[in-house]
Amino acid sequence: MSYDPDNIFAKILRGEAPAHRVFEDEQTLAFMDVMPAAPGHTLVIPKIEAIDLFDMTDEALAATWSTVRRVGAAVKKAFGAEGIRTFQLSGAAAGQTVFHYHAHVLPWGEGVQNASHGGQMADPDVLSHHAKQIIAALT
Ligand code: AMP
Repeated sequence: MSYDPDNIFAKILRGEAPAHRVFEDEQTLAFMDVMPAAPGHTLVIPKIEAIDLFDMTDEALAATWSTVRRVGAAVKKAFGAEGIRTFQLSGAAAGQTVFHYHAHVLPWGEGVQNASHGGQMADPDVLSHHAKQIIAALT
């Protein structure tokens, strides 16, 4: 399988598709998952063209997971979560549905809905509000 430059996350990176962005640096971007498994469900992606774990460079992995830590701390704070669950699916057989590498960041604990994938599209206004809460917790 080769990298498809028209996958939805590539379009988000190029600004051709909308996203509720919460953090960006030279190597990574973080934005709200449109079908959140819990309020605050955020995705972190590298800016390089990489399909999955095995396609990533060491540098992009380090940058992506550094952003996961930073954004994870903000999600935890913003949503008053006891913990943060982070995960990454590589390959359709493992459940990967978007073929641009991404890490999931999910608030976890008592009182938080727990699932790895959400079933339905969230209201954009709610996502926008959640993004603002995370951005506030980042600063
Ligand atoms: P995975 O199954 O690990 O490949 O997860 C892909 C995730 O991307 C799912 O949780 C989807 O809800 C999410 N997703 C799909 N399209 C978009 C989009 N346009 N913006 C934000 N998240 C998306």
